Amino acid sequence: MNESEQSRQHVLTQIEQACLRVQREPTSVQLLAVSKTHPSQALREMYAVGQRCFGENYLQEALTKIDELQDLDIEWHFIGHVQRNKTKHLAEKFAWVHGVDRLMIAERLSSQRLSSQQPLNICIQVNIDGQDSKDGCQPAEVIELVQQMSQLPNVRLRGLMVIPAPENKAAFADAKTLFEQVKSQHAQPQDWDTLSMGMSADLETAIAAGSTMVRVGTALFGARDYSNI
Ligand SMILES: *Cc1c(COP(=O)(O)O)cnc(C)c1O
Repeated sequence: MNESEQSRQHVLTQIEQACLRVQREPTSVQLLAVSKTHPSQALREMYAVGQRCFGENYLQEALTKIDELQDLDIEWHFIGHVQRNKTKHLAEKFAWVHGVDRLMIAERLSSQRLSSQQPLNICIQVNIDGQDSKDGCQPAEVIELVQQMSQLPNVRLRGLMVIPAPENKAAFADAKTLFEQVKSQHAQPQDWDTLSMGMSADLETAIAAGSTMVRVGTALFGARDYSNI
């Protein structure tokens, strides 16, 4: 086994064990490989050992990699902060955008998605633990945003994305409660199936709380060097 395969297998085993501990199906949690700051070659190696979904945070860096890796059938997820003036590239080049926290951003993504493409998958980012420095809408805004965003023609609203402080276990549970609350609404969106929660350091906590997609960078690719980008 090469290094990429070893680290990926290690993370997959962690996911599986975390699921088994709380009687969840291991297949109910998807692994998103967070590749920001890592060169295209690192993604190519991870792809070669079976990884298909990759998450990027910085648009310019992501566009370069998308171009360099065109020959691979990668599912690209944008997990960074969404700026209003960058939505066109996101709408055209990605399969998923996780950090949608305002109606206007969802509207722009929907209108800029090409009609020749499948609808863009989006998640509403929620500031679940009320951190000042963080992006995301307030929990109390979610129900209304769901109603509005699920009317848009070229996006598929899939669920919620949160980044709780790793030690704040209650926040993981709050995210799950909110996720379920939308599900139990009369007019729940058709494809409401994704709770994007958990990173390298807290994926077990996240899975125990009900995450369906963990976004893992460091545990797969090693430490990041931001001077590369
Ligand atoms: C960078 C990043 C991750 C990955 O973090 P690791 O701790 O390296 O696993 C996950 N989610 C978001 C939103 C990120 O920006």
